[in-house]
Amino acid sequence: MSLETTVKRRVKYVRSIADLDQLSEDEKSKLERVSTEYVFRANDYYLDLIDWSDPDDPIRQLIIPREDELSDWGELDASNEQAVTVARGVQHKYTDTVLLLCNEVCGAYCRYCFRKRLFMDENDEVTNDISAGLEYIAAHEEVTNVLLTGGDPLLMSTRRLTEVFEQLREIPHVRIIRIGSKMPAFDPFRILNDEELQAAFRKYSTDRQRIYLMAHFDHPTELTDEAVAGLDCAIKNGLICANQCPLIRGINDDPDVLSSLNNKLSFIGCPPYYLFQGRPTAGNEAYELPIVEGWHIFQKSLQGGSGLARRAKFCMSHETGKIEILAIDDQHIYLRYHQAKDSKNIGLFMICRRDDQAHWFDQLEVVQEIVV
Ligand code: SF4
Repeated sequence: MSLETTVKRRVKYVRSIADLDQLSEDEKSKLERVSTEYVFRANDYYLDLIDWSDPDDPIRQLIIPREDELSDWGELDASNEQAVTVARGVQHKYTDTVLLLCNEVCGAYCRYCFRKRLFMDENDEVTNDISAGLEYIAAHEEVTNVLLTGGDPLLMSTRRLTEVFEQLREIPHVRIIRIGSKMPAFDPFRILNDEELQAAFRKYSTDRQRIYLMAHFDHPTELTDEAVAGLDCAIKNGLICANQCPLIRGINDDPDVLSSLNNKLSFIGCPPYYLFQGRPTAGNEAYELPIVEGWHIFQKSLQGGSGLARRAKFCMSHETGKIEILAIDDQHIYLRYHQAKDSKNIGLFMICRRDDQAHWFDQLEVVQEIVV
């Protein structure tokens, strides 16, 4: 099938495990229980990427629930986003950056999601009404950078998203708008099909004030012709692209996979930006790797490729800041605050005792801090 014939495709959403003909009745009934706890959603385009004959297929791991999600582990808000929430749907953690959680739905639900609490019925942390966020941002001149997130902002209507761009562009100190989205992977037709959206990108991503698309590709299989065309369309309509993703057990915890992903992303103008250590989020135990193991995989993945393919920083998005994992030797783990909630910690270098089981900064013992 040529790309020309697929460009106008509309994906069909699948919201119930019972509708997955590829699973046995026994598997369906076991996984229904999991999806009652952590919601399931996918679409026919994305499900077609799965090799159903392979139980370990990485896309299957990414989108199909697993029984071990019900293990008792982690917190729903593992990096305490509640503590930096200044109004409903508005987070202000770093001086120059505000997050607007403007949509509570994603194109599909990644099983390892660190914001899965947002998709639960009782959650009210997200709002489509960004007026409180705009008021807050307008009153804080230090905010130059607004990240639209959720959920997935590209699931909002084009009319609403265009209004958001317009309203943000009316605030002179907001220079960068970022859209955090996995739609280029889940449903690239969202960009390819919508000329009004493309026009909004052209209008509001200007030479002096760009809109960035922070894409979320986890595995090279996601980089289909359609996905590449979707990114190309975003770029040709004025967006700057970069990729950020977590390191996930069973999906991209292989240096060759990671290296291939990052190389391909660098070829198509969406170079890697962050690789995240998974947060200790409830339901995610099966998807997580210890810091030491993850760092070795990351290091090995950096062996080949251009500087652009090796641009990612391996970080923990901790409640105190973005902590980069710089190096590990027999005795120690070396960390640095790449970004910090308390700005005096930016650049703070920390030496921790090596612990091969530790998954998260809170489990490490800091033996020395060096202020730079
Ligand atoms: S796209 Fe992002 S927010 Fe949505 S389910 Fe996946 S990880 Fe969570």
